[in-house]
Amino acid sequence: MPQSNLSICAVRRPGHFLSWLLLIVSATLPISGEAVCTGQVSVQVLGSGGPIANPRRASSGYLIWVDGKARLLVDAGGGTFARFGSAGASIADLEAIALTHLHVDHAVELPAYLKSAWFGDRQQALPLIGPSGNLEFPGLTEFMQQLIGPGQGAFRYLSGYLSGTKGYFKTTLYETDADNRKAVKVLETKHLVVSAVGVVHGPVPALAYLVEVDGRRIAFSGDQNGDNPQFGKMIADADLLVMDHAVGENADKVAAKLHARPTEIAQLAEQANVRRLLLSHIMPRSESVLEESLAQIGKTYGGKPTVAEDLMCVELPLRKP
Ligand SMILES: [Zn+2]
Repeated sequence: MPQSNLSICAVRRPGHFLSWLLLIVSATLPISGEAVCTGQVSVQVLGSGGPIANPRRASSGYLIWVDGKARLLVDAGGGTFARFGSAGASIADLEAIALTHLHVDHAVELPAYLKSAWFGDRQQALPLIGPSGNLEFPGLTEFMQQLIGPGQGAFRYLSGYLSGTKGYFKTTLYETDADNRKAVKVLETKHLVVSAVGVVHGPVPALAYLVEVDGRRIAFSGDQNGDNPQFGKMIADADLLVMDHAVGENADKVAAKLHARPTEIAQLAEQANVRRLLLSHIMPRSESVLEESLAQIGKTYGGKPTVAEDLMCVELPLRKP
């Protein structure tokens, strides 16, 4: 087994010692080579950080693995493209890419993934899910036009990915209304059912996702402050919630409009009866108060949260009825 592969099978309410041991072990693992994620259904962290450069934490990105193949990429932040390579994932296997929002730390490397696919043998269309826009942010369709659209796109030499011509496979765009505070089913593929709901991330159009895979329910908060109660309803009884933990309890008002505080994370996870909580999007301001935040979360949430590390793999065994 490669050194950087780490499988976590801790269930809800594991021993405190185990959680911290995993944290310590994972923090010391080298981030290089190939780290294949095994198990029938697993989630792998490609990037556990935020927008600040960090040698141990790429920006936001996650994979869902099904039977040894990476089927869904959630977010494409800076540094995740290299981690995708380290993970041994293949773009040819992806059934969809889902972007939670169009901040740099979640979307900047999307063209790198597309370019990389040119050298593979994928032919089938690739669904791409993302939010609608507002005055400050383009929606997914405009974003893709500005990135790779013919004529004006920055990387217009890749415009074949929009039209499915010039030997490129087509990216099928699923622009999803980020103002809709009710969950909607966006996409169903061979292995995945993807639902989305608009969440509150300051003024940024943002989506959270629930992915149903072979009897498992996997939730991705994206970046949000926890203000939309429909998110909690959508993810009820989730086997795993990957939650942004970008601020501590002492977050100022501006930061708290963007990200949930530990008390809000704990309430959300407890009320939704989340089986496992994976804290990610770690930034210096949240990492420096991690111990206090974990204690705060432990006051309300009955399980023990795990702190994400890059390339960490969380295996999700099928829940017994
Ligand atoms: Zn972010």
